[in-house]
Amino acid sequence: MIFADIESKINTKNGNEVLLLKREPVNGEYNKTILVIGVFHGDEPDGEYLLNRYLSQKSETKNRLLFIPCLNPDGKTAKTRTNANGVDLNRNFPAKNWEKNDRDEYFGGEQPASEVETQFLVYIVERYKPDLIITLHEPYSVVNYDGPAKTEAEEISRITGYKVEESIGYPTPGSFGSYCGIERKIPTITLELPENSDKEILWDTCKGIFTYIAERY
Ligand SMILES: [Zn+2]
Repeated sequence: MIFADIESKINTKNGNEVLLLKREPVNGEYNKTILVIGVFHGDEPDGEYLLNRYLSQKSETKNRLLFIPCLNPDGKTAKTRTNANGVDLNRNFPAKNWEKNDRDEYFGGEQPASEVETQFLVYIVERYKPDLIITLHEPYSVVNYDGPAKTEAEEISRITGYKVEESIGYPTPGSFGSYCGIERKIPTITLELPENSDKEILWDTCKGIFTYIAERY
């Protein structure tokens, strides 16, 4: 059971649904909008676990919270990083640094924003104008960030114990962080969870993030 409204959804190439879920304050008044996204990469499933676990309990929020528990269900089913077209969604954003690259697991697509999953996120960012975005990846146990997100990254590092790293150390053309954080100046956190973690330990490590975005941010 998920306690959230289905705000919007799309169908992927293989006919799976990508859901945008929403929680708002009871009185409908909020100052901030926070967007959290899981399973950008199909072989990184734990973000969806965390979001579904949070959403399985009712709790109040003073902010508007938007969740995409699984952006890449086709990749999740196939256990691949890429989507059903073999595109790395985190290289497919229409950022200025997008470039055509080799057809490997980092393939950025034939065109920027060629993929429906990418188009859905571009639409959501324009429509809902989030004040903070958190994407959930694996396996490095670090808090990366793009754009003006140093304070938020440090807070999430304090909550989880994962270190802050400003840059992941290699170029990421067409990444969501380039598109939202660097070009649009939206604080954008790339939270790298550990790989194959014990689910109870993972939840205990990360659950404070939800209190942060719902009550304190
Ligand atoms: Zn990833």
